[in-house]
Amino acid sequence: MGYNNSMKEKAIVFDFDGPLVGSGQDKAVHILFSAFVACWDTCFRKFLHPENLEMDLDRMIKGLVNYPGAPRFQQLSAIVSCIVRDVPEAFRDPAELGIDENFQTEYQRLKERYNHFYSSLNQAAAKLYWKPLEGVKQVIEELAEDYDLYVASGIIQEILEKDFEHHGFDKKMFSGVFGSNPEGDIDKAKILERIKGKGYRDVLFIGDSKKDFEYARKAGVKFYRVKEKKDYKKLMKDIKNGLPDQDEVYEFTDQELSRIKDRVLFLMKIYVSGKKPSFHEITTYINTGNL
Ligand SMILES: [Mg+2]
Repeated sequence: MGYNNSMKEKAIVFDFDGPLVGSGQDKAVHILFSAFVACWDTCFRKFLHPENLEMDLDRMIKGLVNYPGAPRFQQLSAIVSCIVRDVPEAFRDPAELGIDENFQTEYQRLKERYNHFYSSLNQAAAKLYWKPLEGVKQVIEELAEDYDLYVASGIIQEILEKDFEHHGFDKKMFSGVFGSNPEGDIDKAKILERIKGKGYRDVLFIGDSKKDFEYARKAGVKFYRVKEKKDYKKLMKDIKNGLPDQDEVYEFTDQELSRIKDRVLFLMKIYVSGKKPSFHEITTYINTGNL
């Protein structure tokens, strides 16, 4: 009896990036701008329209919204496909783009440029701006009274534990903090299934993306989207009537998308003009509007 006795009837599972540690729309801006930089700095510049960057960006956004939360090179390929042929579909082999062989070899360089630029931007932003969502620790304390709490993240376990501690979350409030593995065969759906399998009557996953919603459905648990402080306010109200469940989940609101577009377009214009702001300067611009 011992173990089951200490278990609560219902569990709430948090995604880490987003619902616990907020990064706003930074990642979307990073993806789009890094993809642009990678094209601009390689032969793929040929497919861009410096005289009409807004058109390029509108195309790239179609690729981004088609692959929310997908692995980085899959997202990149969808965006490059938008730039080259205005088709928002990912590809496995650049030959699918119908471009000549030189470009196919050059695509490897584009990938490397993207990888470095995107990782560096994320690192700079994480250090300077990505913080626990305001009020989230209070929310955790309140929920821990009635529910078993978990974390389910796509971040590799070892890094997740470091991040968790670095941001000052209290392990005692949680029944488990679960991340992915280097092989990448543990995803959030698997973690959610495992938690559900402990025998809870009801499980809610709090995530921030469409992909998270799909993981929740795959595991047969409820879903709630939290991206900012005000979403928790609403959750704490809704939860009084039992664990809530959302069926319609969007990746970005129109307002979010227009802010993403403004930021990326500005950065694209700067880059095309030949200026090379540092990663620190770029993340500061994205988060404060000043460059
Ligand atoms: Mg997330």
